[in-house]
Amino acid sequence: MNDEFKTLQKFDAGNGREGFLHSLPELETQGVGKISRLPISIRIVLESVLRNCDGEKVRGKDVETLARWDAKKPANEEIPFVVARIVLQDFTGVPLVVDLAAMRSAVKRLGGDPKIIEPLVPVDLVVDHSVQVDFFGSAEALRLNLEMEFKRNRERYQFLKWGQQAFKTFQLIPPGIGIVHQVNLEYLAKGVLSQKSEVGGQRSEIFYPDTLVGTDSHTTMINGLGVVGWGVGGIEAEAGMLGQPVYFLTPEVVGVHLSGRLKEGVTATDLVLHITQMLRAQKVVGKFVEFYGEGAASLPVPDRATIGNMSPEYGATIGYFPVDQESVDYLRATGRSDKQCAAFENYFRAQKMFGMPRRGEIDYSVDLELDLGQVQPGVAGPKRPQDRINLPELGQTFRSLLQKPVKDGGYGKENVDSAVKHLVQLNGSAPQNGDMPGIDPGEELNKAEMVTNRPTPDPAKDWKGADPFHHGESKIGHGSVLIAAITSCTNTSNPSVMLAAGLLAKKAVERGMRVDPAVKTSLAPGSRVVSDYLTKTGLQPYLDQLGFNLVGYGCTTCIGNSGPLHPKIEKAIHDYDLIAASVLSGNRNFEARVHQNIKANFLMSPPLVVAFALAGRVDLDLTKEPIGKDKDGKETFLRDLWPSLKEVRDAMQSALTPEVFRRLYRDFANQNPKWNEIPSSTGDIYQWDEKSDYIHEPPFFKDFSMEVEKIQNIVGARALGIFGDSVTTDHISPAGAIKAGSPAGQYLISRGIKPEDFNSYGSRRGNDLVMTRGTFANVRIKNLMVPGTEGGVTKYYGPATGPAASASGEQMSIYDAAMKYQKDNVPLVILAGHEYGTGSSRDWAAKGTRLLGVKAVIAASFERIHRSNLVGMGVLPLQFPEGTNAQTLNLDGSEVFSITGLSDSIEPGKTVTLEIERKNGGRDSVPVRLRIDTPIEIDYYRHGGILQFVLRQLLASK
Ligand code: SF4
Repeated sequence: MNDEFKTLQKFDAGNGREGFLHSLPELETQGVGKISRLPISIRIVLESVLRNCDGEKVRGKDVETLARWDAKKPANEEIPFVVARIVLQDFTGVPLVVDLAAMRSAVKRLGGDPKIIEPLVPVDLVVDHSVQVDFFGSAEALRLNLEMEFKRNRERYQFLKWGQQAFKTFQLIPPGIGIVHQVNLEYLAKGVLSQKSEVGGQRSEIFYPDTLVGTDSHTTMINGLGVVGWGVGGIEAEAGMLGQPVYFLTPEVVGVHLSGRLKEGVTATDLVLHITQMLRAQKVVGKFVEFYGEGAASLPVPDRATIGNMSPEYGATIGYFPVDQESVDYLRATGRSDKQCAAFENYFRAQKMFGMPRRGEIDYSVDLELDLGQVQPGVAGPKRPQDRINLPELGQTFRSLLQKPVKDGGYGKENVDSAVKHLVQLNGSAPQNGDMPGIDPGEELNKAEMVTNRPTPDPAKDWKGADPFHHGESKIGHGSVLIAAITSCTNTSNPSVMLAAGLLAKKAVERGMRVDPAVKTSLAPGSRVVSDYLTKTGLQPYLDQLGFNLVGYGCTTCIGNSGPLHPKIEKAIHDYDLIAASVLSGNRNFEARVHQNIKANFLMSPPLVVAFALAGRVDLDLTKEPIGKDKDGKETFLRDLWPSLKEVRDAMQSALTPEVFRRLYRDFANQNPKWNEIPSSTGDIYQWDEKSDYIHEPPFFKDFSMEVEKIQNIVGARALGIFGDSVTTDHISPAGAIKAGSPAGQYLISRGIKPEDFNSYGSRRGNDLVMTRGTFANVRIKNLMVPGTEGGVTKYYGPATGPAASASGEQMSIYDAAMKYQKDNVPLVILAGHEYGTGSSRDWAAKGTRLLGVKAVIAASFERIHRSNLVGMGVLPLQFPEGTNAQTLNLDGSEVFSITGLSDSIEPGKTVTLEIERKNGGRDSVPVRLRIDTPIEIDYYRHGGILQFVLRQLLASK
């Protein structure tokens, strides 16, 4: 066990257990920093740096730099953070498991034991991103959506099942169990972890805080439980999984002192929307945020988790709550063992990190204040989560946005009468009960027709005596609510708001209120615990009667898996160019995230979602105007339906027990018969199936050997693309639809796949043949080598010399050109402007670049994560000097490029030379800076990428 600073100490781990920890108070005693004044989140990262300090991956200098963290001027240094575990969702997780499988195949080919390839830290993958709301508003919706999901994703699931049995440190939570972040909160998180290791010649248990990264931005939710964790791209997660540090710049920490208490009628959702607006304005991007003070202590963990969840929306890396009695109580209430809870509490006490800090106890970079008593009920939207609107002002705000010009953020409907409504007839040939299974997933229109024209309900069985609804006619116009979804980890993990939604539904149903047939209603919680308590409290039937039947346990409307609207509704939106609305308890609402045709999306608490579904429109003041009429025609107001805090608390007490969590998270694999029906191959090696178009062995280890080649200059390269500023990772590797005419589309057609079955790039991330063809294939990317065009096209100039060299440059797709260059062994470069690789981290943006044969990207500046991803994939990032770029150098892509100065020796930040040979024979030399920033990155690059580096290390150590 590393103990460079001699901080390893014994402590009482509770329940008669003795353990060891790397003591932070001891580090302070030794004079290494004023640790007791550091933010708790920084101390947790410091513990990891201290524990993993081995002089190579993590150096003593790293410990000292972080221990001496200066609140007002944090060091401009990268922190090597080795996390305790990794969480994945299925969309981003599949390619990681594909890479592990490819590593095993490579080891086998080299005659080694494939089992040496194992995630070195525990990995949990929750299959939550593949369910879609095709069916809703019926007791059958859950089953039918699940059937559809399994039909669509069978190949991916078969592969994941292989992974489940092949890797010991890899746990898979099958579809239909929940949303990754809620499952993490309720089940996976341990608060503190331990590992057996040698201490003084004895086998001992070393304890350390639970920390993680996940391949989903809302991983930050776990910070509500005092666990430091955030979302990263696939390549960082892959590095973490293989025991490598995740690097990030020493952050500033914004301390938010919370005081007071939330007022009656104000929910945790109102609070998080308030905080999102407040912190966006404070520009906390890239910073840690830590909440503390008596107000923070008063918040239960689910409320803290809701606030942690939306860190990406307020821009912070994390929104952290320190560990206190509430955190321990939450672990106990959710069924974690006494042993676990005791170790959690004792560990944090021994590290002097237990209890909510008070004002003045900690040094923060920025001090902010929030009185919880000031928070008002509200919603956020219609396009950004930080645009909070007080509830009384929603109607007025919507009407004014409707009229406002598009350039000012409005909808540009200057002269429309927003009161005009259009009749939509939703009756049709409704299938009868039992008709739905066996639908062809390709037939979108039929499916859409079916979902809204749901089976005639059986009042005795499904509808508890309510009349059939979502049939008949409706009138829709601007501001009509067409989607109302209780969805998203942000809120469904919080029993108080979920029960409030149920209580509001009960009061509405008791008054005989109904939801308009045009509203697509859904309930998609993040775990089955929610259904258990909604059933136990008797509230689910009331939600059902308003159409909020369970549609699935996973990510639905929140991520755009909202499914189709009724075709007649879609037609009306189109014909009348309607600005229709969705109301959802999610966290993001930019245009087209929720549904292609719904332009105004409002985030709000689950009870408000039910209220707006009942109102059927957003252009009103729900605090003054009636929500609708009761069965006697009497106007009913929100205040008549809103449950009191006491009603919510009473419901909560009768509903939540640790045994429920234990039962529902026990042996969940066997609780899903559909998952068990999926056949899975067995064995340590994956049998790659050439017939699969979802899973394919990537060529990262083709010709792999233990030999590490010397770094060479790049000579005789051609430009594959020249781009301007702010090229995003989505430009480089789109996640959306695959066009039939694109190289990826043509390839799929050649494999006998019809365009309607293409699915998205996102769903085919396990197949390099599709993803490489999709690289730089975004229809909006502009390659300046081919002025006036959009999409993935370039000019092909052939090798630098010889008969194939071309003077004019033939126009073709980027993929085709790259393959022609590859045939002639011509290295490629990309030239770009500022902020290259901006946007969310996407592993295929770097992987695809590499597989196209690009050796270097030379940009004016890089987005931080994409730069490190390029190095991780063995592609050289180089930076132009200030004020220089492809345009100032007059480059049009016809030049030949060489990068010299690499073969002598390289070190982080070294200046090398870009040699340019122009068509007319002119030559230029430009100094460019190597954006390999750390010594470990030199190793990654030398080995051809992080995967090859780790593989060689593992093979060498066996
Ligand atoms: S529910 Fe929404 S925010 Fe949460 S993980 Fe799923 S897609 Fe992401």
